[in-house]
Amino acid sequence: MAEQQKKFVESITPRDEDFAQWYTDVVLKANLIAYSNIKGFMVIKPAGYAIWENIQRNLDERFKATGVQNVYMPMLIPENLMKKEGELVNGFAPEVAWVTSGGQETLTERLCVRPTSETLFSDFYAQDIHSYRDLPRLYNQWCSVVRWEKETRPFLRSREFLWQEGHTIHETAEEAEQRTQQMLNVYADFLAEELAIPVVKGRKTDKEKFAGAEATYTVEALMHDGRALQSGTSHDFGKKFAEAYDIRFTARDNKMNYVYQTSWGMTTRVIGALIMVHGDDSGIVLPPRIAPTQVVVIPIQQRKEGVLAAAQSIAATLSDYRVKVDDTDRSPGFKFAEQEVNGIPLRIEIGPKDIEAGSAVICRRDTREKISCGIGELPRVVSETLERMQFEMLERARRHLAAHTFAAHNKEEFEENFRETKGFVRAMWCGDPACEDKIKENYGVTSRCIPFEQEMLSDTCVCCGRPAKKMVYWGRAY
Ligand SMILES: [Zn+2]
Repeated sequence: MAEQQKKFVESITPRDEDFAQWYTDVVLKANLIAYSNIKGFMVIKPAGYAIWENIQRNLDERFKATGVQNVYMPMLIPENLMKKEGELVNGFAPEVAWVTSGGQETLTERLCVRPTSETLFSDFYAQDIHSYRDLPRLYNQWCSVVRWEKETRPFLRSREFLWQEGHTIHETAEEAEQRTQQMLNVYADFLAEELAIPVVKGRKTDKEKFAGAEATYTVEALMHDGRALQSGTSHDFGKKFAEAYDIRFTARDNKMNYVYQTSWGMTTRVIGALIMVHGDDSGIVLPPRIAPTQVVVIPIQQRKEGVLAAAQSIAATLSDYRVKVDDTDRSPGFKFAEQEVNGIPLRIEIGPKDIEAGSAVICRRDTREKISCGIGELPRVVSETLERMQFEMLERARRHLAAHTFAAHNKEEFEENFRETKGFVRAMWCGDPACEDKIKENYGVTSRCIPFEQEMLSDTCVCCGRPAKKMVYWGRAY
């Protein structure tokens, strides 16, 4: 490794030495965020925000393809409105931020900064719908929410974060349930196809579900260090909010019925997942489909006549991709290291010798594989290499997930797995929340989900020995 290249990566802690420190190092080094002056709030810098914009654009298209429309709700919620649904307010009370004055005036009723917007959507829907003809309503908003977390980490947990929250209302329970699962599948497909992150799909236990929900579904991803990250959730509220906020409509039989409601969300946390699933000792690695820059062309000996021009003409032939020429006044070694830290999928090296030979060298960020090809072949080879990289990144993540998912058939195996391995442990559970509490207390792990794909590993609960009802994925989570 060239001296400059070495220096550039020296400040990154090796991933397997201290994963948490590695994460912080690469997030800062790749220029994704800066810490702000307000504790727990971060600045998302251009490199980080560009990733979010691509996530947003892609997800938004997927939502709209299912009939969803975007709206915008106020960011403040009056306290009395918030309090109408008891479970929700109790669930969020410890982490809500309040506005108590406006200008010089002390408010007669304090306003909460939205931690989530079920209450606002419910209040709006109650006024807005009258008949079954008004249903369904499939609304989503892109916004930020505030939750006063005690411990914060860039992207993974911050007091303000960006997300989308979809809120739909339906005529029947079946339709709402179907929508809940449909959106979970949108998340799972998006994560696999765009972010190259495989997930386990399932239902949360009652203890882990969203405050006020009848059922919460989740997509759980496994990070490189073997810890789980809840990457998207979808909730079926049944009639709960409809009853609390009086969202009724005239049904087909002329009776007044309550609507059935859902909500679903994905946040800037998934950027954390992207980093922790694919990153390595040199920095982050972005899957080609989501990378803001897919190809960087790096001229070698760029002051020599014809080199810059050749680099620019290569970039011009790759206009189907998000391509950049790094013509800054720094050494190639530095530029290589920077491309690696920033996770740009491909770099193309072009110097006087290459020009003479009519060829260029492509280097893949994830495997560092070098491919030499004729300049005229570049559009085809770049296209194939980006596709192959996207595919192989998902395959690699799938292998990692499979290799770090263990099955425990009894208490001994369950204990052994959490003592000696890192990852998900699949095990049978009786359905009693007391066993969940006990498992959390004893091993520091939580139930991640009851997967849709069930398997009877044994007849008894790994905690209490009583008859087992469900197989559960357990793990340590972010
Ligand atoms: Zn049990």
